[in-house]
Amino acid sequence: MSTTTIERTITKNFIDGHWTSTAGAALIDVFDSNTGQVMGQAPASTSADADRAVAAARKAQPGWRAMDPKERGTYLRAIAAGLRDRQEELAQSISREVGCNLALSRGPQTGTPIHSFTTAADIAESYEYRSKLGNSWIVREPLGVVGAITAWNFPLHLVTVKAAFAMAAGNTVVVKPSEVAPLTAAILCEIVAASGLPNGVFNVVFGTGADVGEAIVRNPDINMVSFTGSTRAGMRIGEVAASQVKKVALELGGKSPLVILDSADLEAAVTFGVADCFTNNGQRCDALTRMVVPRGKLAQAEEFAAKAASGYSVGNSTEDGTEVGPLVSAVQQQRVTGYIKQGVSEGARLVVGGPDAPALDGKLEGGYFVQPTIFSDVKPDMTIAKEEIFGPVLVLQPYESVEEAVFLANNTDYGLHASVWAKDDAEAIDMANRIDAGMVTINNGAFNPVAPFGGYKHSGLGREFGNFGFEEFLEVKTMQTSKKL
Ligand code: NAD
Repeated sequence: MSTTTIERTITKNFIDGHWTSTAGAALIDVFDSNTGQVMGQAPASTSADADRAVAAARKAQPGWRAMDPKERGTYLRAIAAGLRDRQEELAQSISREVGCNLALSRGPQTGTPIHSFTTAADIAESYEYRSKLGNSWIVREPLGVVGAITAWNFPLHLVTVKAAFAMAAGNTVVVKPSEVAPLTAAILCEIVAASGLPNGVFNVVFGTGADVGEAIVRNPDINMVSFTGSTRAGMRIGEVAASQVKKVALELGGKSPLVILDSADLEAAVTFGVADCFTNNGQRCDALTRMVVPRGKLAQAEEFAAKAASGYSVGNSTEDGTEVGPLVSAVQQQRVTGYIKQGVSEGARLVVGGPDAPALDGKLEGGYFVQPTIFSDVKPDMTIAKEEIFGPVLVLQPYESVEEAVFLANNTDYGLHASVWAKDDAEAIDMANRIDAGMVTINNGAFNPVAPFGGYKHSGLGREFGNFGFEEFLEVKTMQTSKKL
């Protein structure tokens, strides 16, 4: 018997502080990743809906911009409190939509959004918007209206890390959440409505990238587009925005290496790497999906990796204790399985897993499960070493010399994240200095939610989180005065 229930049907957009009927008639189904059954629906809105939301945001912008940053901060803190009150509901919804385990949903998936709103409020309140330089005032001002277009893998966080910092900086926003996982954005709208935020400051239009996303990017009243998603869509958005000389921030894909140096504690490094790669079932832009290992230690690394992977419990993402849940959709399940088959056909060696669905004792039929899979002896030109898979698939790449380790780490179009493990941090930092990535985790260094987040090369443009994230949403003006200041 199925346990799937329709969690939420959204038929309207959140525009100018109200739930507003859409110009389009169709609804897009949202699937429970554990069962493949419909758990919700959201509107397939049109470009007219997007334009309406942008007009509301434009109208609200002068009042929001003129407000004292401390007052803006009060609203942002009220939204943080609303998120805290509904954290469990949000977490359950994310685990069903995306397939990530409850520990992740109750932790970073819903905790980071609360943190984003409180940090953004703190920064807005203390930020020096004016500074002196010779006879000039250097002034930071909001850009105006920000379009925020987001992916499904952290469906709430990706919206809030943009909206919180953009609004804190005095901008108004139009959000288009992923059509694959839109349900928590609707809960966020209810929280925003209850917070008393002035109408039009925060707007959400549901729908596809082709219809609503493109309309937001094209609208001349949008001053900046902050995008998280695939490199393919990011390039398209960059092209359209460039034709209007519009600012973009792009948080895109990754194929991130974990480089294990000879001096490292091999078991600790490999266990960390497997855990990182399988977090959110591998559905993470910054997942460490390539493990770069000394050739002489490859066999031992495989053993440690197999031991770590065999300890993972695969199953229903909404049950406590599950570590690896299903993928977000049938499309994603087919895509990831296709990569695993391709790895086998290109001659990579399977250590753990494979293309067959995991045995779940007949339970969870219809769920989008993929076996956590580890390949070894993966050559740099194999597809699974080059392309972002976005599922629980780890590849081990052996190296002979430190020079070769650097080459392998950088042998990718991407440059989002890397990790280096060595006996001590100083040795790892020497290697980190040679890696082209926006973020490097040194040994088991903890994630820092106020440090800049973003990538080099095809992983994107711009940074999120903390002061760097806040400043992305500000323009710089200089005023030359007649006297030295
Ligand atoms: P996607 O690019 O298919 O979609 C992302 C968003 O863009 C969706 O809302 C979609 O509707 C919209 N979109 C698609 N085409 C568009 C267009 N032409 N114009 C405007 N909007 C458009 O990506 P996805 O499958 O939702 O997410 C997975 C990707 O996101 C992966 O590549 C992953 O690495 C990346 N990602 C990056 C980060 C980061 O911070 N760097 C974080 C999470 C996910």
